[in-house]
Amino acid sequence: MRILIAEDDASLASGIAKILRTEGHAVDIVTVGEHASLAAQQEHFDLVILDIGLPGVDGYEVLRRLRAAGLRTPVLVLTARDELEDRVRGLDLGADDYMTKPFAMPELAARVRALIRRSQARVGQVTTHGPLVLDSAARRATLDGVPLELAAREWAVLEVLLARVERVVSKETIIQAVAGWDEELSPNAIEVYVSRLRAKLEPAGIRIRTVRGFGYLLEAVADR
Ligand code: CA
Repeated sequence: MRILIAEDDASLASGIAKILRTEGHAVDIVTVGEHASLAAQQEHFDLVILDIGLPGVDGYEVLRRLRAAGLRTPVLVLTARDELEDRVRGLDLGADDYMTKPFAMPELAARVRALIRRSQARVGQVTTHGPLVLDSAARRATLDGVPLELAAREWAVLEVLLARVERVVSKETIIQAVAGWDEELSPNAIEVYVSRLRAKLEPAGIRIRTVRGFGYLLEAVADR
């Protein structure tokens, strides 16, 4: 999963990032409200951890903008305030959960797991594309009913393409969905993942077309 942390306390942000990375997530950090709002709208995140006391645009306003833009990404609010009114305000604005500082890291990790489970259950994570079935919650794929082995990054690339069938997806979009900002992932690496996916999918009639100089397009398949 890819998680955005918006927190201006550097040591707290890096502590949260550390525990989430050990749980296998890709984590990015912003320290200013304006950046949180832009990043969450321009790129795909599975969860946003949002401090209310951010410099400039505060966390409440960030949350309001995200929900106003129709974004349904789960948001866990961090607040130094423990006033009932503040909590109610966060939840009213569309926060999915909140934690009051100071908190214990294992509790934060547990809340994050719960939020991710909840949002996956809500989306109903089974995607079908002709003979291909992808069950994201169970992390299982089948092709013509036969289990299909996909490496973690092949899986991530395929999910991005499946979310945009018949639309051109830039390599940059794929890189952003697959890696965190501080991970080096070159366009060449994406080519490797796509060619592995082709080797696995084309025998079943699923085609990923190259759009030269730009990216890829997953072709629609006829219903059978
Ligand atoms: Ca703060």
